Amino acid sequence: MIVMKFGGTSIEDIDSVRRVVEIIHSRLHLCPVVVNSAMGKTTRRLLHAARLAAQGMVKEALGELETIRGYHIALARGLTPAFEESSLRRDLEQHFSEIRELLEGLAVLHELPPRSQDRILSYGELVATKVIASALRQRGIDARWLDARTFIVTDERFTGARPVGDLTRRAIRKNVLPLLSSVCVPIIQGFIGATRGGATTTLGFEGSDLTASLVGAALDVSDIQIWKDVNGIMTADPSILPIARTIKQISFEEASELTSFGAKVLHPDTLEPARRKDIPVHIYNSRQPESGGTMIAARPERGRNVITSIAYKSPVCIISIAPEDQTNPSGFFRAVFDILDRERITPSAMTTSKAGMIMAVSAPEDEERVMGELSHLGTVNTFGGKGTISLVGENIGTARDLASLVFRNLDGIDIDMVAHGASPISFTFVVNEPDIPSVIARLHEAFFKDPDPALPD
Ligand code: ADP
Ligand code: ASP
Ligand code: MG
Repeated sequence: MIVMKFGGTSIEDIDSVRRVVEIIHSRLHLCPVVVNSAMGKTTRRLLHAARLAAQGMVKEALGELETIRGYHIALARGLTPAFEESSLRRDLEQHFSEIRELLEGLAVLHELPPRSQDRILSYGELVATKVIASALRQRGIDARWLDARTFIVTDERFTGARPVGDLTRRAIRKNVLPLLSSVCVPIIQGFIGATRGGATTTLGFEGSDLTASLVGAALDVSDIQIWKDVNGIMTADPSILPIARTIKQISFEEASELTSFGAKVLHPDTLEPARRKDIPVHIYNSRQPESGGTMIAARPERGRNVITSIAYKSPVCIISIAPEDQTNPSGFFRAVFDILDRERITPSAMTTSKAGMIMAVSAPEDEERVMGELSHLGTVNTFGGKGTISLVGENIGTARDLASLVFRNLDGIDIDMVAHGASPISFTFVVNEPDIPSVIARLHEAFFKDPDPALPD
C-alpha cells in the first residue's frame, strides 16, 4: 500500500492530469491511495473571490468565480467524452452554484469569517478530486471518490485547523482500508477536514502534504509519495537558484527543519506523522516520473557536505524590545511569550540579554495590534524588509569553522542577527530582503562546489 499526493502544479491542465493518470496507472500493483490538492492556483483564486465578496464587490467576486468555473469546465470537458451529459458536469455545476450562494452571503455579511473562508476554499479540492476520479475511470481504473471531511477530524481553528490524532487515525482506517485493492483506488481531498460537529475546516495553506502523511501513517503504508513540479528536495529553492541540485536522501529532522525555516517544498507539519511510524517519504517530479527524486527517511546515507540545503524566509521583520525595568528579566520574557503565543507568532530566530530581546518573525497580519501589546512591556523597535537565511544539515553539529566560512563569503552584506546553537542542525541569520538571492548563490557556491556522492552527478 502506498499514498500518492499530487499538488496543484501537477494537475493544472489537461496534459498534466493525463500524466498523473498514467503515473497512477503504472503503480496500481502497489495499491495506491491518491490525495489531491486544488488544481493550479484555484485556492488563491477562491480566496480572492471571497475577499472581494466580503468587501461588497459582489460583481467582481462572481466574475472571479466564473473564471474558476470556466477553467474547471474546460479542463473536465477536454478529459471527458460526452461531457455535456456526464454526471461529472452535473456535480461540478452543483458545486459552483453552492460557491455562488456562499459568495452572495458574504456580500450581505460584509466580512469574511474564518469558518466561511474554509467552506469556500474547500471547493477547490472537492472539484479537483471529482475531475481526477473521472479521468481515472476513463482509463479503466475503479476510482472511488471519498469525502475527506468524514475522516480528517480537526479542532475548530478555522483556516489553520489541527487534526485530532486518534479520532482521525481510526476514521481513516474505517473509511479507506476496506476499499483498497489493486483495482480500486480511493481518491481523497488534501487540505480539508471537518470538526466533530461537521463544520468544514482547512489545515492551512499547503496543507495537502499533511493530509498525505496523516493518511499514510494511519494506514501503515510502505511509502508516502509526494509528487511536485521539482525533482525532489534541492540544495536551495530552484525558483531562485536554478543551479540547485537534488538531494537523494535526507533525514526527517533535516527536511523538517528546512520546511520550518521557509522551504516551501512541504507543509512544515507534514513529516511528523510519517516520522513517528518510520515510513519513508519520497518527493518526485510528476513532469519527470523517471527521475529519482528525494527520499526522506530516518537513517539516510550521510553525505560528507557540511550542510545539506539552504532555506530562506521572507518577508520577515525584526522586533527589538527593551524593558523599562531590567530587574525582572524572567517576568519580562514570560510576558513577551504570552503575547507571541496568543498571536500565534513563532520567531524564526531570537537572542536575549538582560537589556531585552530581539527576534525575527514573519510580518504579523495585524502588526499594529501586536506592536501595541508589546509596547506595554518596554521600548519596541521594528525593522521590516528582512529575510532569514538558514543553513541546514546533520553535519553542522560537528563543523568547527562554520560561522567563519559563512561570513567570509558574505563580504559587503549587512547581517542583522545570528542564531546558532539552539538547534544542532541549523544556522540562521537575518539579511536585507533584496540580498537574499545573492547570499544564497554565494553560500551555495561555497558549500556545494565539490561534488558529493550523496548528490547526483
Ligand atoms: P505543490 O503544488 O505540488 O504542493 P509547491 O509549489 O507547494 O508544490 O512546492 C514546490 C515548490 O517548492 C517548488 O516549485 C519550489 O519553488 C519550492 N521550493 C522551495 N524550496 C525548495 C527546495 N529546497 N527544494 C525543492 N523545491 C523547493
Ligand atoms: N490547495 C491548498 C493550497 O493551495 C492546499 C495545497 O495545495 O497543499 O494551499
Ligand atoms: Mg504545495
